[in-house]
Amino acid sequence: MGSPHINTLINFRFHPLFSAERGGHGQGSNCTGHGGADLDLPVPIGTLVYEKTDDPEQPHRLLADLAEDGARVLVARGGRGGLGNARFATSTNRAPRKVQPGEPGEVKDLRLELKLLADVGLVGFPNAGKSTLIAHISAARPKISDYPFTTLTPNLGVVRLSDDRSFVVADVPGLVEGAHRGRGLGHQFLRHLERTKMLVHLVDVSGGSGRDPVKDLDTVRRELELFQPTLAAKPQIVAANKIDALDPANDDAVTALERRAADVGLPFLRISGASGQGLHELLETMWDGVAASRQPAAQGA
Ligand code: GDP
Ligand code: MG
Repeated sequence: MGSPHINTLINFRFHPLFSAERGGHGQGSNCTGHGGADLDLPVPIGTLVYEKTDDPEQPHRLLADLAEDGARVLVARGGRGGLGNARFATSTNRAPRKVQPGEPGEVKDLRLELKLLADVGLVGFPNAGKSTLIAHISAARPKISDYPFTTLTPNLGVVRLSDDRSFVVADVPGLVEGAHRGRGLGHQFLRHLERTKMLVHLVDVSGGSGRDPVKDLDTVRRELELFQPTLAAKPQIVAANKIDALDPANDDAVTALERRAADVGLPFLRISGASGQGLHELLETMWDGVAASRQPAAQGA
């Protein structure tokens, strides 16, 4: 069962064997054995459940994609209860000594894989510094990939602020003007954003690229709106990136970007994914947004 309270599959590494309860044995005095309880295991949301098969061509068969809170799949049934002596009574033997034993619950050989769903999407033009930022903030990445069931694509990073404050950030590459119409890879990546809880606009303000930060922000916001209005309605942050390399001649452009962010009601931060400047505040702001959106699910559970 998909559960918002479980974040990793680490438990299954240390306790990899589960089986449904066996059925109770049948007993005398007309008692039928109780049925074994089905096995109900909470797993993180986003867990893919595979069953091992005997087919060498396709050794794993997908049973379920537990993408939502409370999504369930029945993989192992509890054992059938045994039959009591009453079941074996005949016209000549009214009190047979015979009972049937309960049967063991089903045992299945499963493979669990955690498909990480990004909480935060990084958007911005190519070279805005998305990959650099993600590499800097997701220091936990090498550790996470040690978990046998966890798969990470290169565009995802896990940020761990503390034990109970972690979230997944996705670097969404290739977003360019026209992305919503399928230009470049943008369209494909925009789809990934649909499940994120918030977006961070990364804008190169250094001046080194000769880009206009306000125009870049406006363009990306327009692309989001055109692609999917619900995307544009997600909480967003504007991060003025590469502040470490800011050309003083570009100061006004940064101020203009700050003003634009204020005009459209978005928080604004000055950061550098390379030097680390402003990242503490950025991560705390991201966490606030993620935590706020996790709240309703936690209360409903
Ligand atoms: P992406 O295309 O958005 O993923 O951008 P990258 O992370 O690949 O960065 C593009 C270029 O900008 C690279 O040469 C980076 O070294 C440089 N860069 C990224 N972040 C910063 C930063 O915070 N400060 C400076 N000075 N350069 C940066
Ligand atoms: Mg990149």
